[in-house]
Amino acid sequence: MTDIVNHWIGGKTVEGASGTYGPVTDPATGAVTTKVAFASVEEVDAAVAAARAAFASWGRSSLAQRTQILFRFRALLDAHRDEIAALITAEHGKVHSDALGEVARGLEIVDLACGINVQLKGELSTEVAGRVDVAAIRQPLGVVAGITPFNFPAMVPMWMFPLAIACGNTFVLKPSEKDPSASVRLAELLSEAGLPDGVFNVVHGDKVAVDRLLEHPDVKAVSFVGSTPIARHVHLTASAHGKRVQALGGAKNHMLVLPDADLDAAADAAVSAAYGSAGERCMAISAVVAVGSIGDELVEKIRERAEKIKIGPGNDPASEMGPLITRAHRDKVASYVRNAAAEGCEVVLDGTGFTVDGHEDGHWIGISLLDRVPTTAKAYQDEIFGPVLCVLRAGTYEEGVALINASPFGNGTAIFTRDGGAARRFQLEVEAGMVGVNVPIPVPVGYHSFGGWKDSLFGDHHIYGNDGTRFYTRGKVVTTRWPDPADAPAGVDLGFPRNH
Ligand code: NAD
Repeated sequence: MTDIVNHWIGGKTVEGASGTYGPVTDPATGAVTTKVAFASVEEVDAAVAAARAAFASWGRSSLAQRTQILFRFRALLDAHRDEIAALITAEHGKVHSDALGEVARGLEIVDLACGINVQLKGELSTEVAGRVDVAAIRQPLGVVAGITPFNFPAMVPMWMFPLAIACGNTFVLKPSEKDPSASVRLAELLSEAGLPDGVFNVVHGDKVAVDRLLEHPDVKAVSFVGSTPIARHVHLTASAHGKRVQALGGAKNHMLVLPDADLDAAADAAVSAAYGSAGERCMAISAVVAVGSIGDELVEKIRERAEKIKIGPGNDPASEMGPLITRAHRDKVASYVRNAAAEGCEVVLDGTGFTVDGHEDGHWIGISLLDRVPTTAKAYQDEIFGPVLCVLRAGTYEEGVALINASPFGNGTAIFTRDGGAARRFQLEVEAGMVGVNVPIPVPVGYHSFGGWKDSLFGDHHIYGNDGTRFYTRGKVVTTRWPDPADAPAGVDLGFPRNH
């Protein structure tokens, strides 16, 4: 076992004092490789106090200073891509190339934050009335918190903190306790880039740490990404404590395949989007809706491709898909597949029982493909978050869209078609926050915001992009009159001010 993963508070490592720890496991071997300190209420308070103290000067720092630090952080992140990806693979299990992709997408938000001076430009209206000007500016909130899931231990924190600190806030991150090391490495790189102590802090832990952040009077806003039940809890609790909240939840993303689609392209896309990262992506495609008579042919094309996926340890360059995060999660995913036939599904591929030679204790599961899945099946209704793809059949485009819109989730969705008119109609009619047209995982670029609808997002701001800057700042409007020395005194007027 290596060193304990500790907190990062006030610009340095702070050893956990609560006496409570969680195990960190290598999913490919099942071995506990280290343990992570869980913060007590007092330790969370110490992190918030450090962030609050740092806000006094960081909140007033120049945009030039902030962007110079962010540019240096960007260069360090770029230089350490491989190292961070290796940390992710060791604790999450995803294959190294996928982990590199995660770092690259996080870096896009750092790119955006490096240009914060453009985003924070205010507005000025001159001469709105005699000698009166009006300026609109945006200012930071203070201490803001981020609570993040296991499946993107570097990218999702980077959806939040680069913009938050670029806007002048200070930040307390509570990363997933399952793969905590990448967040600490990011903290070290921020410090190396010259970020003042206390501007970025990391506390590890579970519900105790999260709930304290949600209730702490000095935390002004909370960004959360995770499962729907916890997102709902975070939204309700933090809102009840007067905070601004964006809470992104789980998903069940559908891909609608129309009869005119290029079925090879659609099958490639379905397999990549369903089984990449072992299905542990909030934008994974977990349901394909085949329209008209193409179902059998499409399922066969998906099966041919899915059977060839090479499953193995994430640090083996030959592996295309790694293990699941924990043994308990693997067993839960397997239970959906085992119950599928009894629920009326046709089991085309059954990945349960799969293992990798020499790594028998890893959290392995193979590829599962379920066809003719009824909407009543648990495998369809729940977010499985594993390598299980459900195929449903719909008679018409309308039936397919109605099926998608009946889902309680609305994160991402995709349509595969050669018909521009149908694609355009889909964009307008489908109830989801992110739509792909012949693109299976339509994760927006850094300068467009990311977020779902319905049970996939609680709050009214999407994350990053312009929404990120708005979320992490509040508006102020300044009305100014500089009278000319020659002006006569205005005199007393108790009427409501009118512009003329
Ligand atoms: P999770 O909800 O279990 O955990 C997320 C965070 O909440 C972690 O930091 C965890 O420590 C904390 N937490 C867990 N239980 C808690 C409780 N009872 N009270 C307070 N805090 C608690 O999610 P996960 O399993 O780490 O991640 C997978 C989920 O995240 C999936 O549902 C996935 O769809 C979702 N996700 C969504 C997006 C998105 O953009 N919508 C992105 C990535 C992941």
